[in-house]
Amino acid sequence: MQNLVVLGATGTIGRNTLDVAQRHSDKLRVLALTANTDDAALFELCQAFLPRIAVMADAAAAQRLEAKIKSAGLKIEVGTGVDALVAVAAHAEADQIMSAIVGAAGLLPTLAAVQKGKRVLIANKEPLVMAGRLLMDAADQSGATIIPIDSEHNAIFQCLPAAYRCGAVPKGVKRLVLTASGGPFRETPLADLPKVTPQQAVRHPNWVMGQKISVDSATMMNKGLELIEAATLYRLPAAQLEVVIHPESAIHSLVEYVDGSMLAQLGQPDMRVPIAHALAWPERWESGVDGLDLAALGRMRFEPADTQRFPCLRLAREALIAGGNAANVLNAANEIAVEAFLKGKLTYTGIAEMIESCLNADHQAVASDLAGILAVDAWARDWSMSWLNSGQKVIHA
Ligand code: NAD
Ligand code: MG
Repeated sequence: MQNLVVLGATGTIGRNTLDVAQRHSDKLRVLALTANTDDAALFELCQAFLPRIAVMADAAAAQRLEAKIKSAGLKIEVGTGVDALVAVAAHAEADQIMSAIVGAAGLLPTLAAVQKGKRVLIANKEPLVMAGRLLMDAADQSGATIIPIDSEHNAIFQCLPAAYRCGAVPKGVKRLVLTASGGPFRETPLADLPKVTPQQAVRHPNWVMGQKISVDSATMMNKGLELIEAATLYRLPAAQLEVVIHPESAIHSLVEYVDGSMLAQLGQPDMRVPIAHALAWPERWESGVDGLDLAALGRMRFEPADTQRFPCLRLAREALIAGGNAANVLNAANEIAVEAFLKGKLTYTGIAEMIESCLNADHQAVASDLAGILAVDAWARDWSMSWLNSGQKVIHA
């Protein structure tokens, strides 16, 4: 029996993880579940999975959850705040940690799990973008096993030799090719982009995902973050990382070897596939998802990614090449921009404009330790908030 901790249990990845875990209750037991503010959703999951510990990041939500758990007569310890998230991520009895919080908020618990040498299944890509070196160095020191959940990176992991471990430079690899669906605005006339709404942006053609990553997919910042994530996990420079648009989302990514062979992983666009792969690795377990019906799929298309349409992809590649704090600044500015866009305070095209301005703004060079990373993250968020509040910068409103 292995003990599973799901950070971000109420999210899309969290729920898909529990769906797979439920199919393998002879091998996996849920030790802890965490969420941000939605105590009703976490309470339902507590009733279904009976974890030993439940953590709400929000204190008031934790109180409400505790009351519900008490009146239902359940024996579940309730914790709150970042310290409690870190404690379950590093719990002595935890074997597998699913890191599925959204955004930079997942950094500290993910780092704690890595430092404890756990098997860490990373869906939460933002910490890998803001603090990639720190996380990978911590894994080197602790012996933690990192298995990517992001479908592209999981596909690449599956196409590398069985002995390969994330953090090493893969041998004989010429380049990694990340596929992208192109999102909902792949064919929208450029002139219409300033006016697209949050409702249009979160309607992804192929995948069902949380709001933030759905907007990131529409701007293709998601693919940009994934370029940096790939550089972190697979230790390859930007020149060996390519993006191709593949609207069918059947091929989840490819590895091109020096001999000209290209290996791809295919499957339905259902996150239970990479999740089951990672939970079972190096074995294989049923995920609840069938393979593709290739004849029904008929054909697959590929096209280059247009950085005029998707400036966020260009910004992310530039940040990866620039190194230093640039990826951290990019990530923080993007989180603020996406939140503002979802609240109607920034236009869709304003997202890239604000991030580019933030990347061009002066900020102090700081150390690349945890304190330095958090300081740069805070600086970029403050800078972005002032940019938004200055009003005149919301160019297309
Ligand atoms: P989601 O919005 O559906 O869920 C986010 C989860 O994080 C929720 O459980 C929420 O309670 C928790 N959370 C949010 N803010 C928090 C905070 N401040 N402190 C503690 N917990 C907090 O998001 P999702 O779609 O499940 O994505 C989760 C992560 O996985 C993201 O980083 C995303 O980029 C990545 N990812 C998602 C998919 C997908 O298909 N959904 C695919 C690849 C990667
Ligand atoms: Mg992805």
